[in-house]
Amino acid sequence: MSYERVRKQIEQKPTKLARYDKFNKSRERKFGKGVHKCRKCGRTGGLIRKYGLLYCRQCFREEAEKLGFKKYS
Ligand SMILES: [Zn+2]
Repeated sequence: MSYERVRKQIEQKPTKLARYDKFNKSRERKFGKGVHKCRKCGRTGGLIRKYGLLYCRQCFREEAEKLGFKKYS
C-alpha cells in the first residue's frame, strides 16, 4: 500500500501518524532528480524547467497550447 493511502487511513490518530511519518516519509532531497516534480502529475522524469514551467514532457504536450506555445514545424 502506498504511503499516501496509509497516511489517509491514520489521519485521525496523531500519535500513530507522527510515528508513521518518522519512519516512512520519503527523504527530502536537496539535489538530484527528486527535487523537481511535474506540477500536474508529479512525475520526476522528462521535466521541463525552462521558463519555470515545471511540467513533464507528457503534460507539457497537453498544456502547451493553453500556455500560448505554438508549433511551427
Ligand atoms: Zn506531468
